[in-house]
Amino acid sequence: MDSCDVLIVGGGPAGSTLAWELRTRGLDVVVLDKSRFPRDKVCAGWITPATTDLLHLDKDEYARGRVLQQISGFKTRMIGGSEVVTRYGRTVSYGIRRSEFDDYLLKRSGARLLLGEPLRTMEREKAAWVINNDVKTSLVIGAGGHFCPVSRSLKGNRARRETAVIAQEMEFEMDEGQQQECAVEADTPEFYFYDDLKGYAWCLRKGNFLNIGLGREDNHNVAEHVQSFFGYLKETKKIPKNTPAAFKGHAYLLYQGISKTTVDDGVMLIGDAVGLADPKSGEGIRPAVESALIAAEVIVSAAGDYQRSRLMRYPSLVAGRFGKGRVTPAIVPQAARRFISRRLMESSWFSEHILLDRWFLDTGRPALR
Ligand SMILES: Cc1cc2nc3c(=O)[nH]c(=O)nc-3n(C[C@H](O)[C@H](O)[C@H](O)COP(=O)(O)OP(=O)(O)OC[C@H]3O[C@@H](n4cnc5c(N)ncnc54)[C@H](O)[C@@H]3O)c2cc1C
Repeated sequence: MDSCDVLIVGGGPAGSTLAWELRTRGLDVVVLDKSRFPRDKVCAGWITPATTDLLHLDKDEYARGRVLQQISGFKTRMIGGSEVVTRYGRTVSYGIRRSEFDDYLLKRSGARLLLGEPLRTMEREKAAWVINNDVKTSLVIGAGGHFCPVSRSLKGNRARRETAVIAQEMEFEMDEGQQQECAVEADTPEFYFYDDLKGYAWCLRKGNFLNIGLGREDNHNVAEHVQSFFGYLKETKKIPKNTPAAFKGHAYLLYQGISKTTVDDGVMLIGDAVGLADPKSGEGIRPAVESALIAAEVIVSAAGDYQRSRLMRYPSLVAGRFGKGRVTPAIVPQAARRFISRRLMESSWFSEHILLDRWFLDTGRPALR
């Protein structure tokens, strides 16, 4: 039977960041993922500079043969309202393709990879875990995203009060004719907010690729919302008339505070398996990466003794970083909803300083050190 120091279930941004961090500290790490990489992940693929900093991403190297779209502005509006254009005159975000980004990070991690293999069994054997009757390890990390099987196996975790964002997205490569027809500017993605502020839709052009999607906190009629938004984009000639409607759905949790059940003897959860996405913007990649870095710190200081009591620093550190959470989750803070009106969204000051700088770009919170 094979063995390793740490086995990570899930090779998304959370899993690959943790693998990379632990590998650089000399641990033997295996990443198990049910998919073979490169694989698609339902996501807009918008990342902030804080994320590239946290990952020490060499942007020039990354951009060789991969899409790294520089974003220097945004167009925002209520659906049916007037558009507000904010231009920063410098790069404030990037657009990446998850198939490329996740594959790059996972390979860069230097971990041993077991790909195309789902977690089937996780048996306790004295102080160790035996995974899929194949690999023995003292520590298993649940980094399997919203439906992480490790998370589901932890006592009490299923009972969490959860408000998931239900989202649908599609991404395709435009041919030359479609590129000319597409009115979305590559460096200026577009966000369309709902009157009830329970979510938003987007149009993001990354190189030759176009990504269209919508996420809402309530799961009623999401498919209808998507169809109506898609129809609107075609009618207004924002997107090419022959854009395929190949939408795929997924869900993820906005951060509502961290539960103590995210750790147990020899087990920890990170990223979407915990539910860490920013409640103001829905950004999930940065918190996934940050949770992995926090977890790495706790794992290294536990020095091979992964009893629950040694890992309990992790939920405290996560709460210290992301806050204690809120009672009523919302993509846009509940208190603000009462005040936000169509008029406010049409103010260029509000769009730049509150909606974009404070909520989406989170400029007041530097990358974790
Ligand atoms: C439509 C949509 C748009 C989004 N857009 C953005 C965005 O633009 N920017 C942003 O920051 N965030 C965005 N998010 C959120 C972001 O995608 C997630 O927060 C992020 O991917 C979390 O990373 P993770 O590593 O925790 O999980 P994931 O990226 O979900 O990775 C989990 C991995 O676990 C593997 N896995 C799952 N089950 C098993 C199993 N049983 N056995 C083995 N392996 C398994 C999966 O194959 C996958 O590779 C979006 C989400 C959605 C749904």
